[in-house]
Amino acid sequence: MRIAMIGTGYVGLVSGACFADFGHQVCCIDKDSGKIDGLHAGRMPIWEPGLESLVKSNAERGRLTFTTDLPSGVADAEAIFIAVGTPARRGDGHADLSFVHAAVRELAKVIKPGTVVVTKSTVPVGTGDEIEKILKEEGVEGVSVASNPEFLREGAAIADFKHPDRIVVGAEDEHARDVLREIYRPLFLNRAPILFTGRRTAELTKYAANAFLAVKISFINEIANLCEAVDADVQDVARGIGLDNRIGPKFLHAGPGYGGSCFPKDTLALLQTADKVGVDQRIVRTTVAVNDDRKASMVDRVAAALGGELSGKRIGVLGLAFKPNTDDMRDAPSIPLVQSLVERGAEVAAFDPVAREQAERIFTDISFAADAAAAVAGADAVVIVTEWDEFRALDLEEMAGAMRGRALVDLRNVYDREEAERAGLTYFGVGRGRQG
Ligand code: NAD
Repeated sequence: MRIAMIGTGYVGLVSGACFADFGHQVCCIDKDSGKIDGLHAGRMPIWEPGLESLVKSNAERGRLTFTTDLPSGVADAEAIFIAVGTPARRGDGHADLSFVHAAVRELAKVIKPGTVVVTKSTVPVGTGDEIEKILKEEGVEGVSVASNPEFLREGAAIADFKHPDRIVVGAEDEHARDVLREIYRPLFLNRAPILFTGRRTAELTKYAANAFLAVKISFINEIANLCEAVDADVQDVARGIGLDNRIGPKFLHAGPGYGGSCFPKDTLALLQTADKVGVDQRIVRTTVAVNDDRKASMVDRVAAALGGELSGKRIGVLGLAFKPNTDDMRDAPSIPLVQSLVERGAEVAAFDPVAREQAERIFTDISFAADAAAAVAGADAVVIVTEWDEFRALDLEEMAGAMRGRALVDLRNVYDREEAERAGLTYFGVGRGRQG
């Protein structure tokens, strides 16, 4: 199949490279010439494990090309995927569809009958209908519009794309279903379930999935608070409930609240959709509030670990990205935490294995350490914010020796209290019995 991918970010580039790897002919289009020039030179615009070699090998075979020129990029494509950003609109949290609409208006000028336009971006219910309307307004006929939401996770994006739990295709005509079935054929040869639904259902399925995962995280975070008050251990509670197949063990890790480029914006966008049709979603609404409070309250945990005072204290922050194995800083829990630490007079030295470049655009008044050892040196408290593998095997004794104080605030429950205390540290985990 000949495929065009409009938007060459986390989703577009990974999807495009994987489709090329399936044997399709793929052109990735982006209006950011810096990204496209970099890709032509073999430089990845994002940090994602395995991406560079996948992109290089498919580009070398001529199956994966890059351009900033949309008309030439979509020419002859049988399917045009839209994978542009849909950030939360400032103020109301509605999904900002301006990039999607701009892409559709641009491709309307050149699209040929028989082409299938597929939204891979996460878009609110009814966006497919709007796209159809725009195409009609622009005089386009004979084009199918389908929805194929993406469920990959940053940090494991290639494996997720190639071995998905399911593929959801929302389409209103047989031609669109046939084209998408053909595109994904290599995957259901591997038995990945493909679910055909109506277009609006597919659009909503993506939001429902992310909202449910956000609920799960907020649920265990609230249970963690309860554990702290009643001297129970949330790790064991999570295991105890997660072994029940009806619940499942994933997304039951208590921590500093969810962040990233999807959950915060997608929960808000779901609420906007619900408001528009007058159907309240109380669980999701509460989840958003719980998570906002949680992120904002992490600074108090650090303060409490230092006896309440942050002014003049040195804090070593380990991990800034919203999760390990990505450089993505969008809505990361580290942002409100670090900003509040600085506001309350602390001096922050932070280290992240790959997110430094992104983080430097956000934090202007902290120092960036070259490694974990440099971040913790002279610190009154060390805070583990992102559970990168390299923070799982720190030499705690060495760390304690290099610090000025003794507090280890482990917001990801990477360590046990006993091992931290053996190393001479005072341990503050999340939901692990009475603190301090
Ligand atoms: P991103 O910001 O990394 O990439 C979007 C790209 O689109 C940018 O490079 C931008 O320059 C380009 N773009 C915007 N308008 C364009 C236009 N008119 N023509 C060509 N290029 C254009 O975003 P992302 O993280 O890849 O997310 C894309 C979509 O996928 C969003 O709707 C997101 O919600 C969804 N999604 C993201 C993830 C994830 O983990 N990042 C997972 C599933 C779904």
